Amino acid sequence: MTRAEIIAIGTELLLGEICDTNTAFIAKELNKIGIDIYRTLIVGDNQSRITRQILNSSKSVEIVITTGGLGPTVDDPTRKAVADAYGVELVFHDPLWEQIEKRFAAFHRSPTSNNRKQAYIPKGAVQIENPVGTAPAFYFRKNDPTVICLPGVPAEMEYLIKNKIIGILGNLYDQGTTTMSRIIHTAGIGESSLDQIIGELEEHKNPSVG
Ligand code: ATP
Ligand code: MG
Repeated sequence: MTRAEIIAIGTELLLGEICDTNTAFIAKELNKIGIDIYRTLIVGDNQSRITRQILNSSKSVEIVITTGGLGPTVDDPTRKAVADAYGVELVFHDPLWEQIEKRFAAFHRSPTSNNRKQAYIPKGAVQIENPVGTAPAFYFRKNDPTVICLPGVPAEMEYLIKNKIIGILGNLYDQGTTTMSRIIHTAGIGESSLDQIIGELEEHKNPSVG
């Protein structure tokens, strides 16, 4: 079974200022195509910690998906962290710069010199076109794990997962088994009484009852 880890990147997530909703979305979509989520983590905007985490994940999973930290500001460390994890440099990618310029032009604006930073991706990475924002999504596949880097903005991340990533993963990896779940609501009965009635079901492996 193909296994994945999700790393949500952002100091604001660690501080509890915003809730990490990206992880739950990605987990649900990956489960639909039979990819098992092994572990999920939140890491601050800290380049060396992200690098260390990717190296650590490479021991357990075939796929690492990151969200966040791809913006144009100094505190956006994901690009460099991935490059360091694989021992490659960041290289300027013309098609990415064109994508950024086009996106700004649509709003009758020009990119700043900071935005040029977003056109650098790790050498050997594959750009994932992002028509809904300026953040440069990409994936890097040298050895395991394949690292997929997505923007933190939920609408951009969701678009890319649904329209790009599911297709890419479907091509790269065999689809495993999918976990289907159903929630059954009960009323007027306590947890312990219910357990006495359905306790036997809870010992089954497939379907499992929790
Ligand atoms: P990007 O990679 O898209 O450039 P960023 O890290 O540079 O992301 P931020 O400014 O940190 O951009 O985040 C952009 C927005 O996305 C913020 O409003 C933040 O609330 C939201 N966001 C980032 N990560 C998450 C997450 N894991 N779950 C929910 N919202 C998130
Ligand atoms: Mg951020």
